[in-house]
Amino acid sequence: MLTPIFLSPSFGFGDRLGLATPGHIAAVRGTGLVPVFAQQSVRENTRTGRTPQQVLDDARRAVEAAGWDAPWGADADHLKTVDDLPPFVDAGYTFFTVDPGEHVDNAADTYPFSVLQEKTKGQDWDQLEARYLKSTREQPWGQFDPESLMRAVVKYGRAIAHSASLFNRLGAMKDSFDFEVSVDETDAPTSALEHYFIANELTQAGVKFTSLAPRFIGSFEKGVDYIGDVAALDAEMARHAAVTQHFGTYKISLHSGSDKFSVYPLLVKHWGSRLHVKTAGTSYLEALRTLAVTEPDLFERIWALGLERYGEDRATYHVSADPQKVASGLSPAALLDDFHAREILHVTFGSALMRFGPEIKAALAKHLDLYISNLQVHFRKHLDLLK
Ligand SMILES: [Zn+2]
Repeated sequence: MLTPIFLSPSFGFGDRLGLATPGHIAAVRGTGLVPVFAQQSVRENTRTGRTPQQVLDDARRAVEAAGWDAPWGADADHLKTVDDLPPFVDAGYTFFTVDPGEHVDNAADTYPFSVLQEKTKGQDWDQLEARYLKSTREQPWGQFDPESLMRAVVKYGRAIAHSASLFNRLGAMKDSFDFEVSVDETDAPTSALEHYFIANELTQAGVKFTSLAPRFIGSFEKGVDYIGDVAALDAEMARHAAVTQHFGTYKISLHSGSDKFSVYPLLVKHWGSRLHVKTAGTSYLEALRTLAVTEPDLFERIWALGLERYGEDRATYHVSADPQKVASGLSPAALLDDFHAREILHVTFGSALMRFGPEIKAALAKHLDLYISNLQVHFRKHLDLLK
């Protein structure tokens, strides 16, 4: 049953090819997590040439074939403007993720005081002071002083207002839906104090959100494990968890959740079952793993194209792979376990689908059993860590 999920623990399985849902179903069965089988951003739709309706139809077909009769969701991911909403609403999506990142002022942390004053003119300071400066009790997420409050207002104020306007627009179109606010792709990490500010301002504005995705410290690159200090992330997540616990109304959401095996135990430690995780590219990489074994010729062409396109295709992604650093002499299948090769293959999916799309899909349809079992094995590694 396609439905909003609200506070149940949930897991997003983005599927760029429209063939992965049977493998996702095999992996998620019996875990207690509510799956989001359709999850696609506007950016992904542009690169895969699929429409929101096609993405949802592909997932629905697999759900019906497998007899999955438990709840599941459909996530319109990284929506940026009100114009992005209608095709997803019309198709029947249940989960709407707003990305107001373009309205976050990343330079706010370093503006001189005079610039802060200029940029906060017209703000209701009596109200802001009452909300954030009255209490002197030190909270686990920190405490504002007048200057840090001004920086938060400048950095996130417009993004919060933009999110609220998208929420209100959706509310006029739908009765019941999951709403997520994600700032995970901004340049600067979201501090716990800023997280508190965002959650509180959204709440004050009447935005009922199911989940919030901060940008955590360290690097969450695509299709590879966390890069950064895990102990520092552990301590930082404790502060963020204090914020979510204070409100008690929403889940934490982790984007770029593919292959973040060292982070999942921390999610469970701090949020228990109040969590949502999103993955996407890793299902595409399992498709390539399947082709590496069954159709090595096709795989070699995808890999050669990936090397050719990487410089350009990486532009809108957080990745650090260096083609020079791919270990030499790797077999096709071993490339899928190499850090650099994984990222290169991951971000060039749009180019690969544009050049070889029908061929890739036909080959996978031929080897569907292996693709499904590769997905099941790979996602069990993820989901077992969330128990
Ligand atoms: Zn994201």
